[in-house]
Amino acid sequence: MRGYLLAAFAVFAPAASLIAAVALCFVGIGPSRTDLIVFVVGTLATMAGVELGLHRYFAHRAFTAAPALVWVLGALGSSAFLGPVMWWVATHRRHHASTDREGDPHSPHWPVGGVRGLLHAHVGWLFRPEHTAMTISARDVKDLWQSPRAMSLHRSYLWWGALGLAIPTLIGWAAGGPRGALTGFLWGGMTRIFVVSHLTWAVNSFGHALGGRARLPHSGQARNNFWLTLPALGGGNHGNHHDAPRSYTTRVRWWQVDPGGALIRGLSWCGLAGDLKQPERSRTES
Ligand SMILES: [Zn+2]
Ligand SMILES: [Zn+2]
Repeated sequence: MRGYLLAAFAVFAPAASLIAAVALCFVGIGPSRTDLIVFVVGTLATMAGVELGLHRYFAHRAFTAAPALVWVLGALGSSAFLGPVMWWVATHRRHHASTDREGDPHSPHWPVGGVRGLLHAHVGWLFRPEHTAMTISARDVKDLWQSPRAMSLHRSYLWWGALGLAIPTLIGWAAGGPRGALTGFLWGGMTRIFVVSHLTWAVNSFGHALGGRARLPHSGQARNNFWLTLPALGGGNHGNHHDAPRSYTTRVRWWQVDPGGALIRGLSWCGLAGDLKQPERSRTES
């Protein structure tokens, strides 16, 4: 029941807030320039937390990171309200282990296909305990149980989510009093969560249903979707990713773009990240 309520909150509260934020626009309340700046910066930072932190670092161990970077990426990823670190990683590893077949928690091709399958892969699976129960998948995160940082981030999940709502609210308050606090909360807080969560879910749903013709040998039904690539910071190259899941980058051809991989390279130049796994190496290891 608790899981069902959390899923309902994660899916419906941001959507309701976005509707409220847009409705307030029509009566002249927000968004202010401050709200828009906080929204854009917050969305990019949170997306980086999900794609670089939860996905490439925690789930795939595609690079090593300095302790401060682990905390920052883990906290930012948690602020997307997509679920605590261990749960997100367990779910994602099961997705890779059984891509688009029985056991995949969120496939548009199993247990149902077509439009219903697409809806299931996007948000429907969150309401199905058999796909979300941590007890089923705890064995998939054995390595993270031994990491004090991962455990601390997992346990403090709701605090990071609350902080992600409090910061834009306080900035809005400082810039525009109570009205600024309201629009700051709606735009920088809830609408940011709406955008990041739907981009992440779109990789699960559309990333396995739409996109390029060429499917790679190990990628199942996963495809590259150019329209998702920039906003999901490289996550849209989903066919490439499934073909070499441990790679730090989803860019394989010279003309493909992967902002997440470029960011990881930048962090490695600064000494904050290291041991960047290459596509060829990943393919043979995974
Ligand atoms: Zn996938
Ligand atoms: Zn993955």
